[in-house]
Amino acid sequence: MTREQTGSVVIAGLGPGDDTLITKEVRIALDRATDVVGYIPYVKRIAPRDGLTLHASDNRVEVDRASHALQMAAAGKQVVVVSSGDPGVFAMASAVFEALEKGPKDWLDLEIRVLPGITAMLAAAAQLGAPLGHDFAAINLSDNLKPWDLIEKRLQLAGEAGFAMAFYNPRSKSRPHQFARALEILRAACGPQTLISFARDVTKPTQSITTVTLAEATPEMADMRTMVIVGNRDTRRIGRHVYTPRYAE
Ligand code: SAH
Repeated sequence: MTREQTGSVVIAGLGPGDDTLITKEVRIALDRATDVVGYIPYVKRIAPRDGLTLHASDNRVEVDRASHALQMAAAGKQVVVVSSGDPGVFAMASAVFEALEKGPKDWLDLEIRVLPGITAMLAAAAQLGAPLGHDFAAINLSDNLKPWDLIEKRLQLAGEAGFAMAFYNPRSKSRPHQFARALEILRAACGPQTLISFARDVTKPTQSITTVTLAEATPEMADMRTMVIVGNRDTRRIGRHVYTPRYAE
């Protein structure tokens, strides 16, 4: 088999939305791809061209999608699996490795590379100022892949430990009450005056950003297009900016 016929899987992050935030190495990988695999709205971001097949699939079929990508690579294709933000953050990179672990042994010889992207948390933090300038925890609030009890425990302990926090998947229509419960836990663990920011559609034309105290926060301020960032007790506002000092006592 010649080198050109050797397949590969590249797992690439497309960043938070603005195309200027797609890295050059991701663009190069997309230019070389024969097949792009991903969740429908992310695949929509890829321009069609001759020689490129787009495979868009629905949410919650991540491991099937990953197996499909590995199968195509085993057949000699140059496959790019796309995620929004960074592919290693609550996204497709782990799903590809889960499929690899379950799949035939010869998949282990495939070339597999993960190309980082700008994750929503960092894009949101940059718009706000520097709310993650000290220690922080990134937490996925969806209970699709873990029990809600574990999420409550992590919120409680991260709050008590004084971490700032960044929440992905904060609130969906199928579980509207959980985010209200999360806010209750945070008020008790972090104090009601702690700042909380809601950054929606970050870097997209529809971007909106609001910062309030935990006492003022309501569940409706978040949806699945929102990144929620909770400060620590030292996080403060200066003019339009929100920042967390680098030091702690
Ligand atoms: N891999 C992605 C995260 C996927 S989880 C990344 O690294 O960014 C999906 C969640 O990410 C959404 O529910 C939302 O909380 C957040 N998110 C993704 N893009 C966003 C954006 N442009 N603005 C605000 N939040 C975003």
